[in-house]
Amino acid sequence: MEAELKEMLNDLDSIKQSLPDPSNLASSILKLQSRVEHLTKLAKSAPVRRTKVQDMSAEVVDSNPYSRLMALQRMGIVDNYERIRELSVAIVGIGGVGSVAAEMLTRCGIGRLLLYDYDTVELANMNRLFFRPEQVGMTKTDAASQTLSDINPDVVLESFTMNITTVQGFETFMSSLRNKSFRPNKEGSGVDLVLSCVDNYEARMAVNQACNEMNQTWMESGVSEDAVSGHIQLLIPGETACFACAPPLVVASGVDERTLKREGSLCSIFTYYHGSCCRAFSAKYAEVTATFWTCVSLSGLQFP
Ligand SMILES: [Zn+2]
Repeated sequence: MEAELKEMLNDLDSIKQSLPDPSNLASSILKLQSRVEHLTKLAKSAPVRRTKVQDMSAEVVDSNPYSRLMALQRMGIVDNYERIRELSVAIVGIGGVGSVAAEMLTRCGIGRLLLYDYDTVELANMNRLFFRPEQVGMTKTDAASQTLSDINPDVVLESFTMNITTVQGFETFMSSLRNKSFRPNKEGSGVDLVLSCVDNYEARMAVNQACNEMNQTWMESGVSEDAVSGHIQLLIPGETACFACAPPLVVASGVDERTLKREGSLCSIFTYYHGSCCRAFSAKYAEVTATFWTCVSLSGLQFP
């Protein structure tokens, strides 16, 4: 782009030189020149996106985005790190927890991420590290896709801006989880793991129902109202109790969860705690994140 703009500047210059009477036309050309110069400056300051990487390399050079991750192989922690590129993870809810999980999985080079959220980015979300002020007004899924594809263009991102608790949303959720176009010969559903990162009971029940119907392993997560603690729960249909059978105590005791939400909870004063909670959570998740593989052994999932 920069080269093209430079060429345009040269063309404009030669047109100006060849004009017999450098009057009106010349001033328009000058104007055009300054606009092209402005665009050139903008092009220079735009973030440079890295190109896609065909195969993960273990070569230890500064320019290799996977060198630190592939080192896990050399250390004997993972047999074949590159298998992570075959895996799909669905993240429901791109809030404080979901955005961190999505970011870390993206940095780890996960194959495919499916992102679900119906909300848009607001300035009030800036207490998290993930969303940026210029993304205000965008859907959270689109803003997340934008950021994630900049971080790692190798990850296949699918965003679903919808509410999975509506009839239509639930159907779309189910069919998107069933879609196997990414890995046609995969057994079971089209994803390897579902991460529930939502903030309400109804949505958790929707995830539970979908995963029960598809025999899909998933993880439930939550952050306490005072933001200093959190929980994760692994759910394997047919092996562990499902979420409906083992709901949180507060739900089991019949309290309306809407009465639990207080104005101003999770405000900025808690950002640090919330951030560290999410990070601890995502580190746990999979180690979803740090390596993903601890989670694999935790959950007993078998990957091909
Ligand atoms: Zn159950």
